[in-house]
Amino acid sequence: MEPNTPPPPDALSRRQVLGGLAAAGVAATVGAPAAANAGAAPASPPQNPVTQYPQPPFPQQQQPWPGLASRMTPRPDHGETSYKGSGRLAGRKALVTGGDSGIGRAAAIAFAREGADVAINYLPAEEPDAQEVVAVIRQAGRKAVAIPGDIRTEAFCQQLVDRAARELGGLDLLANVAGRQQQRQAIAELTSEDFDATLKTNAYALFWITKAALPHMGPGSTIINTTSEQGFNPDPWLLDYAPTKAFIANFTKALAKQVGKRGIRVNGVAPGPYWTALQVTGGTPQEKVPTFGQDTPYGRPGQPAEIAALYVHLASPESSFANGSIMGESAGKGLP
Ligand code: NAD
Ligand code: MG
Repeated sequence: MEPNTPPPPDALSRRQVLGGLAAAGVAATVGAPAAANAGAAPASPPQNPVTQYPQPPFPQQQQPWPGLASRMTPRPDHGETSYKGSGRLAGRKALVTGGDSGIGRAAAIAFAREGADVAINYLPAEEPDAQEVVAVIRQAGRKAVAIPGDIRTEAFCQQLVDRAARELGGLDLLANVAGRQQQRQAIAELTSEDFDATLKTNAYALFWITKAALPHMGPGSTIINTTSEQGFNPDPWLLDYAPTKAFIANFTKALAKQVGKRGIRVNGVAPGPYWTALQVTGGTPQEKVPTFGQDTPYGRPGQPAEIAALYVHLASPESSFANGSIMGESAGKGLP
């Protein structure tokens, strides 16, 4: 079905039934505030996820690492025009690493539209992307704090967290999204410098930032780590990266057991293939870029906007029983 074609009769009747229940006040009886039913959003027709976003083939393209989302073709959708909030994170104070582009940008935009003040970290070379995100956060009426710097040292990770907490007036939401992925076809090509840089970025920095953040956090605070389908089913050219994603999933579960009793929740998001700068800066073998994401049941990669709601869900008190959970979105590839 193409976008904007009328929904099938069964979908319509289901909505009518739900609408009828809401009108009858049934939702209010299970605890939803009455205001939630008043002025309900206009019906939106079902969208076909297969045709909702660009399909491969994409133009061949490469950028020097870390790259800019703004120079990609097609430009990734981070929800800039589409994500609508409903106050689910009102007043929260969030730090998002890798918040300039890709999945981190989508999470940062969604957090702001849900009412959170947001600090983002990124590399100095990514300032143009970061400034686009800052503008979107401010348009949402929220405070934006831009903190560039390289997370591969413990000293900077501590400064990052302290500055975010100081400028936001606290910290109760940490999304660890930054990551390094550089493909190498054979173990012989994987240098110790590569191995070190990947582990520093994906494993050590996650540990350092989380360790620095926890003293700022009280009950109800949430940490969301970004693992990957690669942590469960690795590609052969990601011999350093994929194990860091398995580490992140395991670290998430262990920390969740440690701090859950304090009312702090730690969960993980496991994306499948998403169209981001990571892929066109050496993360995916160059010859595979034009067909990136074609191996999903939709025949296309995800757009960052499609996974932002999962970060919102794990941050919000509505997911209060989720702790140590790894939740994925990979369009039916059979992974978390
Ligand atoms: P991206 O390139 O847009 O984001 C990665 C970000 O990491 C960069 O923007 C950069 O700011 C940050 N970063 C990297 N090294 C850094 C360093 N040394 N210091 C500070 N910041 C640094 O790509 P993305 O795909 O949105 O990646 C976000 C996360 O999602 C990563 O953890 C990645 O492993 C994970 N992921 C991505 C995919 C995918 O298909 N795109 C799939 C699974 C998991
Ligand atoms: Mg970036």
